[in-house]
Parts: sequence; structure tokens; C-alpha cells
Amino acid sequence: MVKQTIQIFARVKPTVRKQQQGIYSIDEDEKLTPNLEIILPRDLADGFVNNKRESYKFKFQKIFDQGASQETIFENIAKPVAESVLAGYNGTIFAYGQTGSGKTFTITGGAERYSDRGIIPRTLSYIFEQLQKDSSTIHTTHISYLEIYNECGYDLLDPRHEASSLEDLPKVTILEDPDQNIHLKNLSLHQAATEEEALNLLFLGDTNRMIAETPMNQASTRSHCIFTIHLSSKEPGSATVRHAKLHLVDLAGSERVAKTGVGGQLLTEAKYINLSLHYLEQVIIALSEKHRAHIPYRNSMMTSVLRDSLGGNCMTTMIATLSLEKRNIDESISTCRFAQRVALIKNEAVLNEEIDPRLMIIRLQKEIQELKDELAIFTGEQRTEALSDAELLQLEKLITSFLDDQDPESRLEVGTDMRKIHHCFHHLKKLLNDKKIHGKSTVSCEIKDQDCQEPLKEEEYKKLRDILQQRDNEINILVNMLKKEKKKAQDALHLSSMDRSECRHSQSLPFPPGNPEGLRTLPSSAPKQIQDVSTFGYRSSLLHRKTESHLEPVSIPKAPDDSPHPLTEPTHQGDVTGILKGMREEMSLGRQEAFEIFKRDHADSVTIEDNKQILKQRFSEAKALGESINETRSKIGRLKEEITQRHMQQVALGVSENIAMPSMPDLLEEKLRSQLEEEKRRYKTMFTHLKALKVEIEHLQLLMDKAKVKLQKEFEAWWTEEATSLQVNSPAVNSLSHVKPFPQTPEFQQETSQPLLNKSNVNARKILPSPSPIPHSQEHNSTSASLESSVPERPASSVPLTGDSQTDSDILAFIKARQSILQKKCTSSAPSVWIMRKVRPRELT
Ligand code: ADP
Ligand code: MG
Repeated sequence: MVKQTIQIFARVKPTVRKQQQGIYSIDEDEKLTPNLEIILPRDLADGFVNNKRESYKFKFQKIFDQGASQETIFENIAKPVAESVLAGYNGTIFAYGQTGSGKTFTITGGAERYSDRGIIPRTLSYIFEQLQKDSSTIHTTHISYLEIYNECGYDLLDPRHEASSLEDLPKVTILEDPDQNIHLKNLSLHQAATEEEALNLLFLGDTNRMIAETPMNQASTRSHCIFTIHLSSKEPGSATVRHAKLHLVDLAGSERVAKTGVGGQLLTEAKYINLSLHYLEQVIIALSEKHRAHIPYRNSMMTSVLRDSLGGNCMTTMIATLSLEKRNIDESISTCRFAQRVALIKNEAVLNEEIDPRLMIIRLQKEIQELKDELAIFTGEQRTEALSDAELLQLEKLITSFLDDQDPESRLEVGTDMRKIHHCFHHLKKLLNDKKIHGKSTVSCEIKDQDCQEPLKEEEYKKLRDILQQRDNEINILVNMLKKEKKKAQDALHLSSMDRSECRHSQSLPFPPGNPEGLRTLPSSAPKQIQDVSTFGYRSSLLHRKTESHLEPVSIPKAPDDSPHPLTEPTHQGDVTGILKGMREEMSLGRQEAFEIFKRDHADSVTIEDNKQILKQRFSEAKALGESINETRSKIGRLKEEITQRHMQQVALGVSENIAMPSMPDLLEEKLRSQLEEEKRRYKTMFTHLKALKVEIEHLQLLMDKAKVKLQKEFEAWWTEEATSLQVNSPAVNSLSHVKPFPQTPEFQQETSQPLLNKSNVNARKILPSPSPIPHSQEHNSTSASLESSVPERPASSVPLTGDSQTDSDILAFIKARQSILQKKCTSSAPSVWIMRKVRPRELT
């Protein structure tokens, strides 16, 4: 058992502004417990006459200042926990702090760079690396990912759902058994055999979380996420199994209400916005008080799930994330105070060992049999029923191996059962008789032979025996050669099939590297449906990767620009890329254009673009490395072949000249062998490097996929909002150069036919979709004093479509042409624009 208080660490998020730096200082002089001092700025402290403190000091195990890298955080905080989990103890790491202080960044990682990956991907990587090294134990790893929002649990890893809101995800409930153990009903556990599979699960969960979030539920700041790695291990042959769980927890934002100022009084009065954090604090207060009998774990789902992590069987670590800017001082002080209380909690971690019942049964059955035998000796009571077929077979096997054993000391152990002993004698007798008969017949045969042939001379006999021996040797050599050839052919076959499957793998990527942008553009007719399909696409890609990874643990990725666009072609029916491609073709021009511009102006597109470049670079690195690996592999093959040939030459020489193998080591062979070793080493180094590259590529692809889903989600939201507000404000005074045609769809018409007057936020938009058709009454009500409102005719930007695809595409082509003219002319010659506008609707209707 390991007794340990909860370890607390602090991490300060980098601040944008330099002048904020005087707000805190870190004192690491005292080696054991570093101090974080938060200094109240004068203007804030002065406001509290009765409670005037200028600074607060807090002790932490270690404090990580703004410059601390994700690697440092992992090495110092997560690695020791991962190690104890590998040793069979439960572990928990939770991040606590206000929204925006870096909890998600610390636990999961940043969405941009590979180097920003957080504790979860690094821990997975570390755990799988360690498991791979330890081949003496059998391991299984499972992953679960739970989100708790408003006291409800949701399974983030449900692959069947295309969740567009949290409620679409399976609900997880808590069950408590009579021993007060907590069970989570409906939380799926997914086996992950490799790091890649586990990483796919992480991204699947994160994407589900992102898609399910709506502005209403603000899930990312108000919910808790618990990513759990379940590890079990067993020595081969042993009946003892070890189970350990590692919870990696991203808590809800710890900000409180009553945020009116700073000072002792106010700070204690402030209340958590999130109720379950309030209950978490109550549990922690209860635990830190000595002799407190009742700990209110049951008050909230989160404290129930984390019960072991808080004062139970677990090694627990807390990271207090701090965004130390002036406006966040009070929240930062709250976070540190909370940490100080957490540090008082003692946990008792025990090794979670249990006996595998199946192995235990086998062991006990054997023991029972031995005891029965022993008992039979003492009581002298003999069993009389006939031996079973299985027992007889077992006995005969024992006799055969006894007879074959050359050791004169060997014994035939059949226990004390007289039936078995008798059977052994019978069987031996039978064998002996059979041999006698056989022996006689061979002797008579020999006699017959001798009758009809001259008796063989001793010398001749010996010579013939030698020849026979030589032939045997030759045959052996030839058989070995054949075997080797066969194996080589098989290897070659395997290699080419591997190459093929590699191709398949790249071809079926949802966002093929040949078109890394591969953005899912959407037809306007079904925004929700499309979102679902693309979500499905994303998810199936994750699952797809999961299965592929079984086939091809280390494949050489194809470069993104190998061929024009071979990778975008769907390779089988139902391929997501195919579906999306089809949809893109069907998609309306206006929406496509709007999406293109939205994408271009979106902040994330820079990240996507950057990552695309890095990805390309990594792809070519991997490709080059793959080629070198293949070269080395063939070189190794050639060397092996040379060695075999050389060896056989020597043997053949020995056989044909009837001399023993030269006892002197063959120099050439030695040289070949050392070359072979060298190549093998090279191969291994490159292979390890390629594996690391592959993990990085995989991670970058997942990051990009996630960014794309996010972009698309934001476009959908923006599009709907724009259309709605334009309807309210139309005829809008859109910047002419930005006017976009907006194709009509049944769904859109339905949506816009409802008056949504409360949403009128059209300011500060860069690109706007054109307003939808509006009822004439509404149109005339417009009070806009714009140039357009003085024109009697309705602005042409709202175009009713006919439903006939040919006509509609003509209309859209016209609009496009108009738009380019508008773009050219709008700045210089407004009148011509208006002429255009006046004319066009008549032409169209
Ligand atoms: P939280 O999850 O606590 O609400 P986030 O992790 O989302 O906060 O962080 C808010 C923003 O700050 C994100 O854009 C994140 O990338 C950035 N950020 C947080 N911590 C760091 C850090 N240590 N280094 C760089 N950027 C950070
Ligand atoms: Mg967060």
C-alpha cells in the first residue's frame, strides 16, 4: 500500500501583455516546496480597507511558469503517475482552473502543433511504449471517455451516433452495488491494441464533444471530461491479474459568481457557477477535516465517479492552471486556495490484484485430484470403475515418452491408482509382444534374402552405409535450401500484399493528402443532414483507421502529391469521401463560394495550411525513409542469401571430399555476418524513426480533421445566423462587392418563413449571404435610408429559384456574371449597377 497526499502542481499560462508580469512571483529557493506569490496590484488592494492584504503565498509541489513546455509538464507530472499505473496502482490527474486558464491545453493539448500535444496523447504514447518493451507480461488496454454536463453523464465514444447535441449521445448513469462500488452503466469501453487506436479514440471523443456543443449548453466550459485508460496485466501461467485505471480529467471552468472585487470577504462568498464543483469542494473540505465520518461523495455524479481519486485507492495529482492577469487575480487566488485544501487529502493506493477465476479452477481441479490420490493410499480403498478413454490415451502417451526417453533414470509416474498401474503393465506387455512378432518376421525375411543373394561382405556393407550417410546429408541440405526458397517467396508475397494494403490505406483516408484541404463543402438543402454525414465521415474514418492499423502497423505513408488526385477516388462503395464528393458536386454555387471565402478568412485556415505543409514535409521524409528501409531490407536479404550459399558451398565441399567441416572459421562468412549485423542495426534505427514519424503524421491528420469539422460547424452556424439576420434587415445595404447569391431550398424557405426578429446582428460581417426572398409586406416596411431603398424595384439579390435544375443553373450563372460586373463597377459607376438590378428580376421571372 502506498500512502500519499494528493500532489499539487501549478501551471501559469503565458500572458499576452508584458506588463502583467509584476502580478506574481515564484520563489523556488526553498528546495522542497516552492512558493507562488500573487501580488495584488495597488489599485485593487486599496479598495478593501478592512481586509487589506498585498500578497498571497501558496505552496505547490512544483510551479511551472509561462515558458514550461508540454514535454516538461508530461515528464514532471504525468510520467510518474503513468509509471505507477503500469505498476498496477490507480492514478488520476485533474486540471482545475477558470475557463481559459489552460486546462484543456494541459490535459489534451493545443489544436495546432504536434509539439502542443498534451498529457493524454503523451501518456498513451509512453504507456504503449512501456508495454511493448515488457514482453513477459500479457497486457490489455481499454479506453473510455465520459462527459458530465449538468449532472448527466454522456458517452463520448459512441460510434453509432451522429450526435448534433449532447442529448443525442448515450446517457451514462451511476449504479452502486451492495459493496458501494460505483458502476457506470452505458459507458462503452473500447479496446486499444496500439497507441494509434487509442489516439483515434481520443480524437473521436473530442470531435463528438465539439459537435455536441451548442451555444446554449457551453459544454466545453461547463462540463467535466474524464478520459480513462484501463490497464490489465497478467504473467503467463499465473492466475493473478492486475487492473489499474488512469483518469485524466479536464474539469469545468472554476469561475465563480459575485465577481465584484478582490478581498478575503468577497472571495469566500463567491459561489461556483458549476454546481458539481461546489460539491467537489465540499468533498475536499470534508476529507481535509480530521475525523470526519461522512464524506458527501454522492451529491454529484462527478464526485461519485472520482470517489477513489479523492481520498481513496488512487495516486492523485492536481494541476492548478492559472491565467495570471490583473482581471483574473481573484479567480487565480481561489484556484490556489482550492489547491491548498486538496493538498491535505491523503490517499491510500493499493495494488489492484485479483485472481483469474478460470485459471484458479484449473489449479484447484489439479489439487483435488492429487488429494484424492493421496487419500486413496491412506485408506487403501481402490477405485473399481473402468478408466475413461481420455485417461487411457493419457497413459499411453506417458508410456511412449517413457520408452523414448534415453535417460536411464527416467520414471513412469502414474500415481497410486492400481487401475492405471495395471493398464501400464498390460500396455507394455502388448508392445513387447508386437515387437517380438515383428522381429521374427524381419529375421525370416533376412534369411530369405540371404538364401537368394550372396552374403554381403563386411567391407562392402560399411561402404554402402557411408554412401547412404552422404546421401542423407545431401538430402538434408537440399531440403533446407528448398525451405529457404519457399520462405523467401512467401516473404516477397507478403511484402507486395503489404504494399497494396498500404495503398488502400492512403486511398481511403477521409481527407486525402492529395487534397489535404479536402474541406467538406455542403449543399444548402440540408445543413443538418450534411453535418451528420460529415460527422459520420469523420467517425468512420477514425474507426476505419482503427481497423487498418491492425493490418499495417508501420506502413510507409504516400506523399500527398504522388499523383494528381488518385487518393480522392473512393475505393469501395459507401466510401465517405465518395459521398462528400457527390455532395460537393450537388452543392449550390453560392454556398460553395461563401464557404470558400469563409474558409479563407477563418483564423484556423492558417493552422490547417501550416499543418498541411508540415504534413507534406513529414510525408516526404517518411517516404524517403521508407525507401531506405526497403533498400536495407533487400540488402539484408541479399546478405543472408550470400551467407547461406557460402555455408552450403562449404558443407558441399566437405561432403563431396568426405572431410569434416573445416574447424577454422570461414573469414568471408564472418565478414558477411558482421555486415548483416550492421544492416540489421541500421534497419532497426530507421524503423524506429519511421514509427515515430508515423505517429506524428497520424496526430497531425487527426488535428486537421478536427479543425475541419470545427470550421464546417462554425460555417453552418454563421450561415444560418446571417441568413436570418439578413431577412430581418433586408433589403440590406450589403457591401456590393460581397453580395453572394443565395440559392433557395425547401428547408431554407421553411426556416426563413418564420419571423426571427430578435436576431439582427449583421454588423461587422465580412461576407454575407444574400437575403432570402421576403414577403412583400416586410419588404415595404423597410425603413432603410440606403440608396437601394430609393429604388422602386426590389434589389436583385434575393432570387427565387424555379426548382428546375437547368433553369436554376442558368440563373446562378447569371448571378455570378452579375456579381463579377458588380465587383468591377460598384466603386466607380453606381448607376449602371442599378440599371442592372432593375433589369434582372424581370429577366428572371
Ligand atoms: P480551458 O480549457 O482552461 O478553458 P484552454 O486550454 O482552452 O483553457 O486555453 C485557452 C487558450 O489558451 C487556448 O487557445 C490555448 O491554446 C491557450 N493556452 C493555454 N495554455 C497555454 C500554454 N501553456 N501555452 C500556450 N497556449 C496556451
Ligand atoms: Mg477547456
